[in-house]
Amino acid sequence: MDTRYGINLWGDNNFKIVEDLLHIQTTLNSSINLLEIVKEVEAKTVPNEPLLLRFPHLIQKQLERLFSEFNRAIHENSYAGSFHAVFPLKVNHFPHAIDQIIKLGANYHYGLEAGSKAELLIAIDKTPLGAPITVNGFKDEELIFLSFIAAHTGHNITLTIEGITELELIIKTAKAHHLTVPNIGIRLRLHSSGSGIWAKSGGMDAKFGLTSTEIMLAISLLKDEKMVDKLTMLHFHIGSQIEEITHLKRALREAGHIYADLKKRGAIALDNLNIGGGLAVEYAQHTHDRASTYTMGEFCNDVVFLLKEIMTSKGVKHPNIYTESGRYIVASHGVLITPVLELFTHDFHLSSLMLKPVNPPIIEELNALNTSLNSNNSIEFLHDAIDHMESILTLFDLGYVDLQDRSNAEILVHQIIKKSLYLIEDDAQLKLEKLHEKLQERYLINASIFQSLPDYWGLGQRFPIMPIHKLSKKPIRAASLWDITCDSDGEINFVNDNPLFLHDVNLDEEEYYLAFFNVGAYQETLAMQHNLFARPTEAIITFNTTDETFNIDHLIPSQSVQTTLNNFNYNAQDNLNKLKKRLENSDFSSAEEKRDTLTKIKAIFIQSGYLHSLG
Ligand SMILES: *Cc1c(COP(=O)(O)O)cnc(C)c1O
Repeated sequence: MDTRYGINLWGDNNFKIVEDLLHIQTTLNSSINLLEIVKEVEAKTVPNEPLLLRFPHLIQKQLERLFSEFNRAIHENSYAGSFHAVFPLKVNHFPHAIDQIIKLGANYHYGLEAGSKAELLIAIDKTPLGAPITVNGFKDEELIFLSFIAAHTGHNITLTIEGITELELIIKTAKAHHLTVPNIGIRLRLHSSGSGIWAKSGGMDAKFGLTSTEIMLAISLLKDEKMVDKLTMLHFHIGSQIEEITHLKRALREAGHIYADLKKRGAIALDNLNIGGGLAVEYAQHTHDRASTYTMGEFCNDVVFLLKEIMTSKGVKHPNIYTESGRYIVASHGVLITPVLELFTHDFHLSSLMLKPVNPPIIEELNALNTSLNSNNSIEFLHDAIDHMESILTLFDLGYVDLQDRSNAEILVHQIIKKSLYLIEDDAQLKLEKLHEKLQERYLINASIFQSLPDYWGLGQRFPIMPIHKLSKKPIRAASLWDITCDSDGEINFVNDNPLFLHDVNLDEEEYYLAFFNVGAYQETLAMQHNLFARPTEAIITFNTTDETFNIDHLIPSQSVQTTLNNFNYNAQDNLNKLKKRLENSDFSSAEEKRDTLTKIKAIFIQSGYLHSLG
């Protein structure tokens, strides 16, 4: 049972365990207790709801790495091109994330990538003049027109065409208006593809990009229209979370040769190669599950070296390098923290045991096992208890024991499981026999997996999970997490090859908070309001490095039930009025009680839908 939760794998030195607490590293030498941050945010909102914490200093760290590593590789390889990057809005389009990204990226002229009209409007509004905007995805006349407007108002914008018809639309728009024509990029349909569960963006059957025939056609079309001076960029994206650098190298080789070829075919203004996104993020909590097998340094060296080699061999000027990595930039900045509301075995307390004057022999035996359990016999007794539980259920189905016997058996078996897990020093035997799956505890978290971890639901993507306190205690319970949706998919199962162990806690006396890491990329944008659970409360946390304190820069409370209803085209006010009328016409012991009841109902409308009290 890993008491460090693989923090050395996924944590990237952003977090560290200090005694029994999880801290976030604020500078090289100082850190702040996450629980303290949670408590302070809760004091300003509602306690025990899920919280999405944003840490902009982690965006800054990733940006610094991206730019400094590429610039280092460029310098070391005497590469003649420069490095540029944009953030793809689809990875996190929420204003409080984007504002931070733009602010932190200002020194690097970091720009934005858009894939739809709404995203483009954000990019035009938020990108500082001079920083690049790239536009990918399928385009209509309106989106192309907007790009012309962006170029005309001074933006450095490149429209990447995904097909010949888009080029024809650009030419048509150029002829119809006296507006500045944006730069044009061509998305390549490479035969090299990515890897892993996201690898659908590369390859000959990819959804996007021009084939060699179409590229040749595009060039001659641009020449005919005297617009070849507008073709400035080639682009490819082999898919998210590139786990092996060889896939990228193959794509780079292919794209590099196309680039060099086009330069020789008269693409005079072609100057930039956009290698898309896909830089991987480490989500693994267990060594065997590790994703990225390369460092940022290696990645940059490989890209720069390979491009230099191809261009030098073909006698072509080194292109400027553009990247659109999104996951790599923002995944780590988002941390979801939720309280555990209940444990499944909560009710199996010894105090509820109601033994009869005369019990079935199997119950007597369970009782004896429970009393005489010690560290020498715990594994053996554990096996006996599990066997007996199965027998009890069979006896119950056959009518030989009653509900009271069954309840007694459940309590005794859970007592034996709990006690023996404490007593077993070396759990190798449990692992060997795959007993953990049978012995697991279910933890109910005040969150929705559909809202906050949609990639777990959709793709089986696992996120690092750990408690933020009690870390000096041994976590003994094999854990499954249940969310509060009424959907059986809203569960993170215990799995033997990716086990999660949590603490045995008594929630009547103590609280227990779990954190989910690396949720800053895609999870918010893909979120589903399944069961009408809305976005959790969001807080932006910054640090004063001099005095080791933190600020809550922005606090955006979770959407109220009333707003959620209205957003789905219900009328919350109507709903409330109707309820009010019905209550007024019904019997109450006093006018005061009626008023109280109404106040309580109104409070439910203006709060979020997450659970608030379980008694
Ligand atoms: C989604 C996307 C990206 C971002 O990919 P990451 O894996 O988040 O880095 C970059 N470019 C294009 C064209 C995309 O579609």
